[in-house]
Amino acid sequence: MNCPEFKKLIFEYMEKEMDNVTKKEFQLHLSTCKDCERDLMEIAKAVSLFRRLKKIAVPEALDSKIQNLFY
Ligand SMILES: [Zn+2]
Repeated sequence: MNCPEFKKLIFEYMEKEMDNVTKKEFQLHLSTCKDCERDLMEIAKAVSLFRRLKKIAVPEALDSKIQNLFY
């Protein structure tokens, strides 16, 4: 697995919608790539914040920050 593939799968991983084979490759890349590890941490933080705030309002800055990671 390479970095762009990894980044595409981050949301799937966090939604726990990943099959075991992909998950193994994902975790293997995670353990060998500091860049992707940092990205995963940042996105996990943003997503948990996003979920906490969802009932109140969706902050636009956060929304576009997440989008920037993928487009
Ligand atoms: Zn990577």
